Parts: sequence; structure tokens; C-alpha cells
Amino acid sequence: MTLEGTNTFIYGADPCVAIDPGSDDPGHLEAIRVAAAERGGIGTVLVTHSHADHTTGADQLGAPVVLATDGEEHGGLRAAATPGHAADHVVYLSPDGVCFCGDLVLGLGSTIVPPGGNSLAAFMDSLALLQAENLTLMCPGHGPWITDPEAKLAEYVEHRMMRERRLLARLDEGENSRAALLAVVWDDVPVELLPMAAMAMEAHLEKLEAEGRLPFDLVE
Ligand SMILES: [Zn+2]
Repeated sequence: MTLEGTNTFIYGADPCVAIDPGSDDPGHLEAIRVAAAERGGIGTVLVTHSHADHTTGADQLGAPVVLATDGEEHGGLRAAATPGHAADHVVYLSPDGVCFCGDLVLGLGSTIVPPGGNSLAAFMDSLALLQAENLTLMCPGHGPWITDPEAKLAEYVEHRMMRERRLLARLDEGENSRAALLAVVWDDVPVELLPMAAMAMEAHLEKLEAEGRLPFDLVE
């Protein structure tokens, strides 16, 4: 999802890496080339996941494009697998605590965790993994820099836990209608975002079912 465009980051020098080029807009690509040229050119283009708004344009920068796997190092950055928003999502960590976090955590608002493969459980594990790192700064794929990673990660965990608690409370009361659960548990969501909320709910239900905490089958 592109809220206000995708952030591209340049890291290191001689050569540098470019992270999430994100657009094939000629002006955007030229700005990356100029910034990179001042740092000895691009050695590797790193992407955080395979969504088009992070990868389009990546192959036009004249350097190999890499979606790293867990533990790989490129240009002084270490990749850490962080599935949830996408199954192939990774973040890139610098030795001094900077995390290029793609769409795992956004500068503004909440990220999408689509259902499938128990993605929400994976997402919560990914947040916990970053909480265990000593992060000083997070550079997200969308929105402003996150200067208090600990607070932002705690906020993200609490937001999902709040939904889960509310969902479980309604299920405990015997509510078995998806529509009713959505209306009550996501009652703060504007109507145009309800389709996204419905996806979020499916991810929650999938997690509860995997944990044996979904008491009965749901109806529409
Ligand atoms: Zn994405």
C-alpha cells in the first residue's frame, strides 16, 4: 500500500546499498543515482519484500537486486527474516542499531497483515524479534522515521493484542457472526477501511484457530 510513496534509503559508501527503490519514476531513480554517486555508486539494491511498491525500478539502477534471506550480510547490513506483512519480508539491521524495516512497521498508522499461513502469529514473532534488538532508529518503507523504536514496537504489539482481547470477549459471549464481530471489534475503523479490517480479522481468527482458542465455527 502506498500512502505517500515508498521511502528509499541509501546506506554506507564505496559502494553504498540502495534499499527499496520503490518506483520506476525517472525523477525518483535519478535522485537515487545522484545520491549514490556521491557515495561511490551502488553495490547492491536491497529490497525488504517482493511487493511491487518496493521493487519496481529496482532493476534499473545497474546493480544486482537482492531480497536477502535470514542472516545474510550485504554492505554492512544484516538481514533478519520478519514474515507477517509478507511471507518473504526481511529487515536490514546496521551494527549501530538502525533498522530498515520495510512494511513490518510503518511511520504512520498500522501495517496490513493479510491472512494465510498463520501470518499474524509470524508477525507477532517478528515484532518480538525486533524488540530483542537494541534499536536506535527505524526507517520504514512508508511514513516518517521512527525515533523511539521501543515505544513504536510496544504500540504495535498492544494494538494487535487489544483486537485479540476484544475478539475473544465477543466469542466468549457466543457471538459467531463475522459481520457482527467486525462491526463491534473494529468499531473505530472508517467505513472505507472495513474491507481491510475484515482481512485483519481473518488473520486474527486464523491465529486463534491455530492456538486452539476459536471455540466454534463462524458464519457470515
Ligand atoms: Zn508491502
